[in-house]
Amino acid sequence: MPDPVGIGPALPLFDLRLEQEDLDRVEAVLRCGALAMGPRTEEFEDAFARRLGARHAVAVSSGTAALHLAYLATGVGPGDEVIVPATTFVATANAALYCGATPVIVDVIGPHDFGIDPTEVVRHITRRTRAVCAVHYGGYAADVDHLAGICASHEIALVEDAAHAPSASLTERALGTWGDAAAFSFFSNKVLSAGEGGLVIVADPDAAERVRRLRRPDDPSQEDGCGEPRFDYLLDEPRAGLLLSRLGRLDAEVSRRRELTSAYRRKLATVPGVSVPYLDTQVLTSSCYVMPIVLDDPARQAAVRAHMRSRHGIQTSLLYPAINEFTAYRTLLGERRLPQAERIARTEITLPLYPHMSEDDQDRVVAALADALLA
Ligand SMILES: *Cc1c(COP(=O)(O)O)cnc(C)c1O
Repeated sequence: MPDPVGIGPALPLFDLRLEQEDLDRVEAVLRCGALAMGPRTEEFEDAFARRLGARHAVAVSSGTAALHLAYLATGVGPGDEVIVPATTFVATANAALYCGATPVIVDVIGPHDFGIDPTEVVRHITRRTRAVCAVHYGGYAADVDHLAGICASHEIALVEDAAHAPSASLTERALGTWGDAAAFSFFSNKVLSAGEGGLVIVADPDAAERVRRLRRPDDPSQEDGCGEPRFDYLLDEPRAGLLLSRLGRLDAEVSRRRELTSAYRRKLATVPGVSVPYLDTQVLTSSCYVMPIVLDDPARQAAVRAHMRSRHGIQTSLLYPAINEFTAYRTLLGERRLPQAERIARTEITLPLYPHMSEDDQDRVVAALADALLA
């Protein structure tokens, strides 16, 4: 990107840097010629499960596929309801529709914590509720401790959308191991990425078997054709190789993300009109996938983002628009106001963050933001 005002090169929202060892690993897979259903997928599943302290991990083709199978694994089916937060990537809700269920979109806690609000969850539990999905926004733990108790007492499943949250924890227990099932994503801009990819964690061994069955369109060892419909959700071997290689550096990269996030928080404390969600202490156990800030003034979001981009070459994003306001969901579920999620949708700005970012880069981002707020 050209430098619009002569203050340095453009800064992207995310930047992925692969190492020689990653390229070597993928090349070795390509040369051996077994590109699907080989040993690397299993090796990756075992390595990922071990890190989490989970027993069953099943790699799949995307985070969306992982959510779909996580819901099916917990028994979500036609006529059921799945309670999901409004502040999320829309796949969290869409995957309920794939099961024939209805997503019930509820509000989040507020501008200081974008997690699903347990009080709102309780208010929306009905006889049809089969599962609650908690999204660990940005790698910061949703209130799964509390939600696990609520779900157990209502005999419904807790599913974790852990797309942002590899290498994150709450009270020393890995995110992704609090619920009956969890979904991770390895999409290109995620903390651990391989282009496309996902993984399901399931607590119950029978449910894990079912997820393994469902990710393949057929099973040559069985002449079934009478079982339930399946999907083609396999992860391929080159991607499993890339993930295995990158998994070795994940902890170091997440540590760097935490340092950069703490530095951002110190720098942003001097900028009036801006707050930063979550607490300093929560950074230490988060995977720090993104750097969200919240503006005091909901009228400034678009102009601030445009100014940062055009005058300073800094790319930002909005994570997330409130999904209850999407036309498809308004049509399906009717008009409902969710004030916290809608306020976040109008005031949140996601700043650039990636492990090899420098503190000078961060200073530029914070100076650009301050300048945009004065404009
Ligand atoms: C990225 C993401 C997904 C979906 O993952 P894909 O791999 O892109 O299908 C689901 N939920 C959240 C919160 C995400 O950020």
